[in-house]
Amino acid sequence: MDKSIKEIISKMTVEEKASLCSGLDFWNTKAVKRLGIPSIMMTDGPHGLRKQDESVEELFDINNSIPATCFPTASGLACSWDRKLVERVGIALGEECQAEGVYILLGPGANIKRSPLCGRNFEYFSEDPYLSTEIAASHIRGVQSQGVGASLKHFCANNQEHRRMTIDVVIDERTLREIYFASFEGAVKQSKPWTVMCSYNRINGEFGSQNKYTLTDVLRNEWGHDGFVVSDWGAVNDRVAGLEAGLELEMPSSGGERDKEIVDAVKNGRLSEEILDKAVERLLGITFRAVDNKKANATFDKKIHHELAREAARESMVLLKNENSILPIKREGTIALIGAFAKEPRYQGSGSSHVRPIMLESAYDGIIKSVGQKAEINYSQGYESENDVVDEKLINEAKEVAIKSDVAVVFVGLTEEYESEGYDRTHLRIPENHIKLIEAVAEVQSKTIVVLSNGSPIEMPWINKVKAVLETYLSGQATGDAVADVLFGDFSPCGKLAETFPVELSHNPSYLNFPGEGDRVEYREGLFVGYRYYDAKNIKPLFPFGFGLSYTNFEYTDIKLSKNEIFDTDVLNVSVRVKNTGKVRGKEIVQLYVRDVEKSVVRPDKELKGFEKVELDAGEEKTVTFALNKRAFAYYNTEIKDWYVETGDFEILIGKSSQEIVLKGLVRVNSTIKINRKYDINSTVGDIIGDPDGLIKANGVMYEYLKKFGMEKGLKETKKSTVTEMVKYTPLRALPGFSRGEITKDMVDELIKVLGNS
Ligand code: BGC
Repeated sequence: MDKSIKEIISKMTVEEKASLCSGLDFWNTKAVKRLGIPSIMMTDGPHGLRKQDESVEELFDINNSIPATCFPTASGLACSWDRKLVERVGIALGEECQAEGVYILLGPGANIKRSPLCGRNFEYFSEDPYLSTEIAASHIRGVQSQGVGASLKHFCANNQEHRRMTIDVVIDERTLREIYFASFEGAVKQSKPWTVMCSYNRINGEFGSQNKYTLTDVLRNEWGHDGFVVSDWGAVNDRVAGLEAGLELEMPSSGGERDKEIVDAVKNGRLSEEILDKAVERLLGITFRAVDNKKANATFDKKIHHELAREAARESMVLLKNENSILPIKREGTIALIGAFAKEPRYQGSGSSHVRPIMLESAYDGIIKSVGQKAEINYSQGYESENDVVDEKLINEAKEVAIKSDVAVVFVGLTEEYESEGYDRTHLRIPENHIKLIEAVAEVQSKTIVVLSNGSPIEMPWINKVKAVLETYLSGQATGDAVADVLFGDFSPCGKLAETFPVELSHNPSYLNFPGEGDRVEYREGLFVGYRYYDAKNIKPLFPFGFGLSYTNFEYTDIKLSKNEIFDTDVLNVSVRVKNTGKVRGKEIVQLYVRDVEKSVVRPDKELKGFEKVELDAGEEKTVTFALNKRAFAYYNTEIKDWYVETGDFEILIGKSSQEIVLKGLVRVNSTIKINRKYDINSTVGDIIGDPDGLIKANGVMYEYLKKFGMEKGLKETKKSTVTEMVKYTPLRALPGFSRGEITKDMVDELIKVLGNS
């Protein structure tokens, strides 16, 4: 422990120590003036600052905050698959924090998108833990490079809004490790967030705010989190249990009541003072770090941040359909812009992450600026954005505008009420008046392009009627300029989906178990979240994970693996050549998936283990490289409670998306971990001779018997027949009877004895 912190703690009363474990008010920690302990401020949120006007402390007035740059929300940022870009967004956020006297930014959110219905998916990155954790790590790296702390949230398994503060999330250990923890793990290990925010929900029976397993055993002891844990706002259930489990700071203020509970617990012996000291040490460590890193008179350049927001927005947009290369549009003739979203953009989500933007550029404004005098722009509203009611008059007006134009761009998506923090969606449809508008326009205008604004997947029953679809997600304050950049081809679209768009909701793996019953939701789909499920079930999604079109084409060649056989302690280098074979400059996201060929345990068909974004001029070619370590091949083995690679062959798959694999390589990976299996009378013959050590021992005791069935060389070498299959599944206890005395009970006991020694 830092000597000075130790000294301060030694001078503190129990009351003072306890006081530091909860907030002063909604956004600030407490100070202890006599010891020089300052108060620090933290504010939302992941894609922009929401520093509330302190004079009006209204929890639900989300518009009451100082203006800040509104970047694209996480669901869009993740589609950029661009670590550097997200880091730059993080840097900008850090700069704005410095300028506003904010010490900790409450974000990013790294919860997995288990269901597209989760109302808060727009604030999360992906259905895939590797992509999610890499992007979260970049965000944190950026923010913290400015001397501002990040708060990685909501740890963990907060994958729905329905009953979010009480729901018990029941997840098996392997799924928790491979999917839900993994989404946080890389970010904690790589970027060391100053703080982690615990989730509201319970995880396997215990609240996230007092879960020793998640907060201490895993987060702190295994992953090395060395900052503090802050409660999600109002997540505390039992304060003393929370402190013991590893929750240092309660937010917001409890009005001093829970501080008193801590004091009483120390005084009556329920809580050891050492635990309180440890918590205070962690709190002070970050508090002093924050204050030491405070930059006096910090400012930021609003224009530069707006330009970055524009860049981030266009990198995040995903071109989903582009029949006959209708896009990019030429700046000529008459262009119809249809739909209220063209003038009143939907560019961020509702709830605690809501930013009051410094400026806001609509698509209409962006496009007018972009085309200048070169083309005529006609606008038609098409629908009321406040309701879902189909307004025939508005639709007819839109049709007229579409007919007299050369091309129609229809701006639709999800309105504010459809997705928000606090509640989930119940279906994946966009409002009826948006659907009717698309259909009506497409009926009269063969060149219809749809521009979508929504924070999470939607169903598109109308897709065959239109020529192009550009998914912009919720792309922040510079959405309008960014849309213009992409529509007119100043920038070739390069985002790829960070989540699957199913054809319909019922195809989603969590469909039958979302949002649970009462206060319990069971993640019965287990590991099979997102594309892991669609792959395994062979269900064709509307758009697969990793999918996105470009205005150019890329050709992949020459996959090279540094070795064709490695140990799980080695690093495998993979390289591939990517060439821009089209006519314009563009960026490509190269994806690397790993497939366990033998799959001796349940495993997804393939899993994302690497990605790189590469920018290429027309005709240019580059080599893209990946380094794969043990984690790329391992699964979480609950028997040894560790990551484990089953010795065998693995395919390295290079894809343009999860469904378009263009190159393959093969590597054999040898495990260096020996699992000491435990055997008893219910172990089967197959279990034993399937294990090389077991085989040696079994042969020592019952060689003759095994030989009779051709099983003495082990399970893999055994020729399959009805008899061998039956022997394989026979437990040791049944052998004396089935072998008619050839294998005696003594032999079975002897075998268990020797196996036990393995
Ligand atoms: C949200 C957090 C947020 C906090 C403070 C909570 O309701 O879940 O994400 O940081 O409020 O606004």
